[in-house]
Amino acid sequence: MDIEKHMIVAGPCAAESRDQVIKTAEELAAGGIRIFRAGLWKPRTKPGEFEGVGVEGLGWLSEAKSRFGLKIATEVASVEHLKAVLAADVDYIWLGARTVTNPFAVQTIADALKGVKIGVMVKNPINPDVNLWLGAIERVENAGIENVIAIHRGFSSYEQHTYRNNPLWAIPIELKRKRPSITLLCDPSHISGRRELVAPLCQQALQLNYDGFFIEAHCCPEHALTDSRQQVLPSELISILDNLDEKTNKELSQNVNFFRDKIDEIDRRILELLSERMDISQEIGKVKIQSNAPLFQGDRYNKMLEDRIEIGRQLGLSSDFVEQIVRKVHEESLKKQLDLNE
Ligand code: PEP
Ligand code: MN
Repeated sequence: MDIEKHMIVAGPCAAESRDQVIKTAEELAAGGIRIFRAGLWKPRTKPGEFEGVGVEGLGWLSEAKSRFGLKIATEVASVEHLKAVLAADVDYIWLGARTVTNPFAVQTIADALKGVKIGVMVKNPINPDVNLWLGAIERVENAGIENVIAIHRGFSSYEQHTYRNNPLWAIPIELKRKRPSITLLCDPSHISGRRELVAPLCQQALQLNYDGFFIEAHCCPEHALTDSRQQVLPSELISILDNLDEKTNKELSQNVNFFRDKIDEIDRRILELLSERMDISQEIGKVKIQSNAPLFQGDRYNKMLEDRIEIGRQLGLSSDFVEQIVRKVHEESLKKQLDLNE
């Protein structure tokens, strides 16, 4: 991948010492990275853990900026943080996932951003709500900030599987559909929680047309005070980016129309069949009403659900997917039958 063509923000989860910041920044700058990130105030789940070095680290970031020509970025969670950061000529701030869940906090920071010229990155909230994410972006834009960037860092879930934070790709895709001009970055570090998953996530994001990446890199990841398992060496980061395959995108766009035509046709057929199914449901509804029978028949519903899940399984469709479709279709059928009463 051509690093120059994408927006890449890289650096340690947290600034820990002057040496760590300068060494990491120097190696990243030598590899072609232009924007350096480091957290100064770290939102930790439990008290008593390393909570960042605070304002002291601003001097280290400024040094990295002047020595290596890097733009610098850090997280801001309060007006107090923002004031300190603005005094140190920071180029970008980001609003963290926890801050973005709270419209009061976002609005307070947005109010303090009025008249300020700075880039603002807005992470997705920890809960899967595209409107909350869009709302935070709008609050920042309404404060007059022109350079607003969205960062996809995944969503918290009670059940943890492969990823530390579930990617739920449909949400950033919906954000981009609603706001096509917004720059969208993928943060594979916080999505994955594991350094070996950073490269495959970057590849997926590239194939979904993301504009760039926001990745954690540390000069000594094993000794990192926060997010140690997900940070990569600066040299690893450069090689991950170098090895990403951009060609896939272009080749796909040339052959894709043939398949898109097929998909359009299939979707039309699905919708025609659904409409036919709804007509039949209404006929059944009339019979039920005439016979004074309840519209919802629990046994029939359970049997239908089981049956469709089994057919889906034989066709290679996941039970979760089939269940969601059947539930939705059944809900709509019932609605149509209920409307017959009016
Ligand atoms: C971070 O980028 O270091 C961070 C704390 O991220 P998030 O707000 O996405 O958890
Ligand atoms: Mn982190």
